[in-house]
Amino acid sequence: MKRASRLIGAALGPLVDFVYPPRCCGCGSSLGTQTGLCLPCWQSLDAFPGDTPVTVLRVAAKADAARQIALPIHAAVPYNSLARTLLLAFKHGGRISHAPLLARLMAANAPPPAERRIVVPVPLHRSRLWRRGYNQAVLLGRELQKLGQGRLIVDALCRVRATPMLGTRSRADRQALLAGAVTVNPRRCEALSGADVLLVDDVMTSGATFTACAEALLGAGVASISGLCFARAGTTPSRKAAASLPEGSGRPHTDARNLAIPGVP
Ligand SMILES: [Zn+2]
Repeated sequence: MKRASRLIGAALGPLVDFVYPPRCCGCGSSLGTQTGLCLPCWQSLDAFPGDTPVTVLRVAAKADAARQIALPIHAAVPYNSLARTLLLAFKHGGRISHAPLLARLMAANAPPPAERRIVVPVPLHRSRLWRRGYNQAVLLGRELQKLGQGRLIVDALCRVRATPMLGTRSRADRQALLAGAVTVNPRRCEALSGADVLLVDDVMTSGATFTACAEALLGAGVASISGLCFARAGTTPSRKAAASLPEGSGRPHTDARNLAIPGVP
């Protein structure tokens, strides 16, 4: 089946290229292939090298505050101008064709896959899902599954309460707004129990969303959780410096303005 779809794709490729000439996803300049970046855009992404976490959060289970885990967050690139362009087009501009490109960059910096790792996308509330038409984290998770990063469970987590846009909120405000907003799907508890989870989102700002999801997953008895996003917002010390951060310290932020991303909840 996969071979057949590859053959069909290869046969239709020239027609697609004729109707939609390949363009750089970042600047729109002509390219040789679809869903790629030109050399200047590649260079301006300033990708994080390797699979070292960009920060490590400390998460406690809701039902048992004594049970705490380290939540390493991996990211492909810092939230710079090009990353913002790519994400806004992907998330709010309907450019879902960006998903394979973003996921490839994320996979390059993902923690090494465990034997039965489960890929869990950060959920959207159904009201936002209806408005947007898709969950960008699910699209990234689907591509990561294709790249061998684990088995995707689309509905492992549920956003049971809608939250306002979080773009200009402080970390404390975000945590308060997200409290109780994410739960584990009861039908997925068995699959999650004892599993290593790769929690996927498009962007990380304060880490409040990753933390809320991880708290819920801990309640389902997962063995470990790692976070993976395309872009990491905020200040960006070197990878060496990030690797030396003590657990729970997170990435230093100066104030809420660091966390403000127009149009990004
Ligand atoms: Zn370009």
